[in-house]
Amino acid sequence: MSDCIFCKIAKGEIPSELLYENQHVVAFKDINPQAPIHLLVIPKEHIPSATDLTAIQIKELIPEIFTAIHHLVKEFNLDSKGYRIVNNCGQFGGQSVTHLHFHILGGQQLQLSLG
Ligand code: IMP
Repeated sequence: MSDCIFCKIAKGEIPSELLYENQHVVAFKDINPQAPIHLLVIPKEHIPSATDLTAIQIKELIPEIFTAIHHLVKEFNLDSKGYRIVNNCGQFGGQSVTHLHFHILGGQQLQLSLG
């Protein structure tokens, strides 16, 4: 989508420090970090939210995303103390950017509240 900020990051049209990239997925630092380490993993393809995933994308793209998450967790040494993976979906889920993304948060004790 031409006016999607995450599509622009994925295409390199907006500068950002890419931390991981392959044919399907990119990862970069969140611009407004909510923890000492706050990363975002996105598909290059514009998929508005988790609700919009097709059966094929669930089978083929989600493993790519979790491979990226696994790689980044190791690279940022998050594995020993733990971290959080978050996907906000839709209005009530608090999604503000309508391009599917997974947050990785870590580097400190996170609040337990989920609501
Ligand atoms: P959401 O609330 O789950 O949709 O998360 C969107 C996230 O994208 C927020 O944590 C924002 O800080 C982050 N964000 C928005 N624009 C940019 C950007 O240009 N670069 C990096 N992160 C961004």
